[in-house]
Amino acid sequence: MNAKFKNVEYATFTGWIDPPTELAPSLRGIQECDVAVVGGGVGGMATALRLAQRGVDVVLLEPEFCGYGASSRNGGQIASAPGGDLRMLRVLSPKKLPGMVRFADNAAHYVDGLIEDHKIDCDYDANGMVWAAVSPIQMFRVKTLAAILRKVGVDGQVGTAKEIGIPEAFVGGMRERRGGMLNRGKLSRGVRRALLDSSARVFEKSRVIDVQRRGGKVVMTTSSGAELIANRVVLSTNAYSGEWDIIPKHLSTPSWIIEVETEPIAPERIAALGWTSRSGVVTQHQIMENFRLTARNTIVFGVRRLESGANYPLQPRSPDPGMMRELADNFYKRFPSLSDVPIARCWGGWISFSSSWTTVAGRVGDNVYYSASCNGHGLAQAPYLGSLIADNIVDGKRSADLESVWEEKAGYAPSPAINPLVLRAVWLFDRVSDLFNGSRRRARLAAH
Ligand SMILES: Cc1cc2nc3c(=O)[nH]c(=O)nc-3n(C[C@H](O)[C@H](O)[C@H](O)COP(=O)(O)OP(=O)(O)OC[C@H]3O[C@@H](n4cnc5c(N)ncnc54)[C@H](O)[C@@H]3O)c2cc1C
Repeated sequence: MNAKFKNVEYATFTGWIDPPTELAPSLRGIQECDVAVVGGGVGGMATALRLAQRGVDVVLLEPEFCGYGASSRNGGQIASAPGGDLRMLRVLSPKKLPGMVRFADNAAHYVDGLIEDHKIDCDYDANGMVWAAVSPIQMFRVKTLAAILRKVGVDGQVGTAKEIGIPEAFVGGMRERRGGMLNRGKLSRGVRRALLDSSARVFEKSRVIDVQRRGGKVVMTTSSGAELIANRVVLSTNAYSGEWDIIPKHLSTPSWIIEVETEPIAPERIAALGWTSRSGVVTQHQIMENFRLTARNTIVFGVRRLESGANYPLQPRSPDPGMMRELADNFYKRFPSLSDVPIARCWGGWISFSSSWTTVAGRVGDNVYYSASCNGHGLAQAPYLGSLIADNIVDGKRSADLESVWEEKAGYAPSPAINPLVLRAVWLFDRVSDLFNGSRRRARLAAH
């Protein structure tokens, strides 16, 4: 086996942080509360935290530990623009676009506040994520997207790789005006700590297997047979949504993606990359690639391939070595000067897509709230949305930002793009365009 891949750790949790050593108790017997939150991702935790701060009697249920899901596994890049293709959103949801852009921008601002308010040490560098282009065609796309954002009042800095301070593997890009990079595991741990210190009652190792309405209340049953009876519930299970009949059909389609991390790299080699801004980058492929530096002098990169076809309940999964290898080989092509750097670890997680490619929140009846499908952009959007739903529950009215992602629908269309055949075709399209844009030529030159 190639020495660079000899010691790769295939994590079933995340590479950012170890799981907590002490867990909150699990739910036992029959308990009651005013509002229940199901799912202890950063979305559910922020919902429960906000409700507790506003004096609500709130209980959160999580099957493993808070921060177990995508919230601790992601690339740690805070985007301040919506996920999905803005050009498509402009065509499909022209009226909603300005609100969605404002929502995403405010979400990044909200996370700044969350970190500050709870003094969370998570290696946060507010250096603005960059939409990077690997070819002139992708640069054209960056400029088009930047123009769409500008039209709705959000400015980004567009420039060449040198002007933006990103490596010469990229032609150029656009830096978002808010957000940046952080250690995702540390952020989830910090929010979990704040939640455990609040008045919210948190039950870990408590998997909800059913959610039912009973006599005007909502009853959640866990796998151990315990019950939680609440006046209202917020379902915040993101990609895991879809396990219960009460959730609107096709609300979210899960997809599996992975992140890979190198061994630490000597600072002078990182300096030689010209990555002066240290901003995380996402490429403009149909399925993006992401690359970022970390506080421990490694590079984390991922996505490039989405895998679908999972059945509920979603099972724990460890990354496929072939998928890791594909991402690593691509990393060496984009960064030929680092082609000897070994891979330390990789991990994966479930993200949630909606058919409209937009973040979604809504309510079933008058007491079951849900939020889902931040389409790979939920690091900031999921907690912000959670806090807005909490305010809506307390105040009885929806803020403009909540309104921008609110759906009155009882059902959703299936997500046409998230199926194995389409995803493979899109992946192939990206590889063909890579061939044309000369990444292989650069790799060949570097190999000589
Ligand atoms: C590998 C990866 C990279 C990503 N990179 C980025 C990025 O760089 N930037 C970005 O903005 N976003 C990124 N994302 C997306 C982002 O992580 C998610 O959108 C965000 O974390 C969603 O938060 P959440 O709280 O809604 O969901 P989750 O964190 O998934 O939380 C859902 C919770 O529900 C719990 N749950 C499941 N079933 C049940 C049940 N039966 N009963 C009770 N609880 C249940 C789960 O255990 C989990 O803790 C990435 C995602 C992945 C997987």
